[in-house]
Amino acid sequence: METTSLHAAVASVFNDRLPELLRGAFEVRSQQVEMALRVTDALAAERLAVIEAETGLGKSLAYLVPAVVFCRESGRRAVVSTHTRNLQRQLIVKDFPLALSAAGGGVKGAVLMGRANYACRRGIESVLKMGRAGLGSDELAQWLRDLLASETGELESIPGGSRFLSPELRATIACPARETVCARCPRRSDCFMFAARKRALEADVVMVNHALLFSDAAASGALLGPFSALVVDEAHHLEDVATDFFTLRYSPYAVKGAHDSVYSPECDETIAYARAIVAQDSETEAKRVEDSWAAFLAAAREADGKTAELFRVLDRNFREMARRWTREWAESRQVTYGEGAPLLYGGETIAAEISRALARMESSTADIVEVVRAFDALGETGVEGTVRSMREAAGEALARFEFLTTASAEDHVFYVRADESMRVSELAASPVDVSPRLGALLEDSATSAILTSATLAVDGDFSYTLDRLGLARSARASVERYESPFDLAAQRAVLLAPFLPDPSEEIFLVEAARVMRAVAISTRRRMLVLCTAKSQVSRLSALLSGEGEGAFPVFAQTEGGSRVDLLDSFRRSAGGVLIGLASFWEGIDLPGELLEVLVILKLPFLVPGQPVVQARTRRVVDAGEDAFERMFIPDVVLKLRQGMGRLIRTGSDRGAVIILDRRLWHSHYGESVLRAVTKQSTACDTLDEMIERLSLHFGNTEQR
Ligand code: SF4
Repeated sequence: METTSLHAAVASVFNDRLPELLRGAFEVRSQQVEMALRVTDALAAERLAVIEAETGLGKSLAYLVPAVVFCRESGRRAVVSTHTRNLQRQLIVKDFPLALSAAGGGVKGAVLMGRANYACRRGIESVLKMGRAGLGSDELAQWLRDLLASETGELESIPGGSRFLSPELRATIACPARETVCARCPRRSDCFMFAARKRALEADVVMVNHALLFSDAAASGALLGPFSALVVDEAHHLEDVATDFFTLRYSPYAVKGAHDSVYSPECDETIAYARAIVAQDSETEAKRVEDSWAAFLAAAREADGKTAELFRVLDRNFREMARRWTREWAESRQVTYGEGAPLLYGGETIAAEISRALARMESSTADIVEVVRAFDALGETGVEGTVRSMREAAGEALARFEFLTTASAEDHVFYVRADESMRVSELAASPVDVSPRLGALLEDSATSAILTSATLAVDGDFSYTLDRLGLARSARASVERYESPFDLAAQRAVLLAPFLPDPSEEIFLVEAARVMRAVAISTRRRMLVLCTAKSQVSRLSALLSGEGEGAFPVFAQTEGGSRVDLLDSFRRSAGGVLIGLASFWEGIDLPGELLEVLVILKLPFLVPGQPVVQARTRRVVDAGEDAFERMFIPDVVLKLRQGMGRLIRTGSDRGAVIILDRRLWHSHYGESVLRAVTKQSTACDTLDEMIERLSLHFGNTEQR
């Protein structure tokens, strides 16, 4: 393809069409045009480009415009993947329509989400049929009707969802996880999810999330169809999403009780139907179906009961081990196990019984498959497929369970995860290194790939990211960095608090709260406090909340609260303080007066006791390297930069970042971390000095 003409087309969109379309609201930024041309080069030359573009550059347009132009001129297709729902929504609602219109149209766009994001018509209709008693409120009934009448059936598309969507309701009205449940569904022809899949297959540019990208690869491209260009935004999340996707799990609901269990009551109907059809031809064969199904149900009951028993043993052992944990470590509620580990003590015999029961479930469904495959009618109506997939599900559950309880694969880390009440919720096995699979996906799924994010480099060095993405040795990958176009030195003050105690000391949170209170009272500007553990959020919330003179509204991300509702309340508050966890470190956009003070409580280090982190640390150490330098430092730098990126969102924003972790000043690694996250910072000797500097920075700009 002719790169020069693509360049000319892309450049003219930025230099002429966008300013024309948006009149005064669009400013031509040289970095944005530069990035768009680099993306164009990579698409035309079939290369991989890893591009860091800091906040304010407008990177979504810098890849969407070239993608639109490339697809139109070449007749090929592109997939754009994001991690957060916020960014996906921004692309769908704002950036893609703008890029399309500015580039002169000519391509079709579509969005495809994971199945759990779409409403299941059959599920909603069954809930509505139960009437008021089952629903609980008329408002919920109306919300469900609105959902049924919506265009896309996306669960988040109808306001009020966060109020109604309990995990139980979601399990009933969202599309089931197992495709087999849909096989004989009478609503399949007007199903929201299948309609979305059809639109995606017919589109030239499809917007998805990272998890769907892996689902598509696992389904050999059946969801997205062939595509030539892949754009991955928020690429710094790819490794975590891949780890999660390839993690094998076994939960107390693995056999019965959830959409993705081996057995669901829907199966009874299918088998009854199969038996009736078979009986028209042979009573003997019909009896075989009946007997095999009875054997299956007996085995399912046993596997289910024994699974519950095994998890009770795991609960007991887990609680025993958890007693020795530190508070923050215990918050992750995960513990590694392996062959002969104490966690499985007392569960060995039960595990063997579960394996045998699962094997019986598989063999009895195999028996039914043998009978039904001779009946064309059962093939045409999808019954044969359903029974086959039940057999597959039983086989997969058995293989997974044995893999998890044998726990001998060296390339995986085995652990259990517990819920809030310290009950073990699953056995899990995660791959220690996903980079080879990621590298293969990025090199092979499309002819060109663009990976971008605001945080990919550590002090200008991309090696940490390239390693994680499996691209360290790629001959086709190149890297590029674009700094923020904002005048950060003038717009943002970065203040450190070396006068505070070490974060490991008991008194730290009390002292940190004293600083926050003084800053909130003196500035009266909206403040976001970024924490790294739930216990910090609840403690700070208690320490900062209060009535009387100088009081300010406090919004804390505690259990059960919706993130969207919290942000709404915070936006409407006067001088409110919002205390949040990981999901507030990125993906939120609070420009101008909506956010003027950002507090980082502690350096967001990886939790060393978290099983996957532990296993990856061991791998680095075994390779003779320093895991702290190689993993922990680059990771904390990227996370800090993400968090700090919440503050300055436009060229006219002004604000202050306050980092309360004294290790940034007093530790051996502090200087290099600080250098990698900001070029300007001031260490304050006292709280008074900090308040004075804040007052100088904000000057006489009006307080909100
Ligand atoms: S096809 Fe599946 S997701 Fe769609 S309505 Fe039927 S059961 Fe629900």
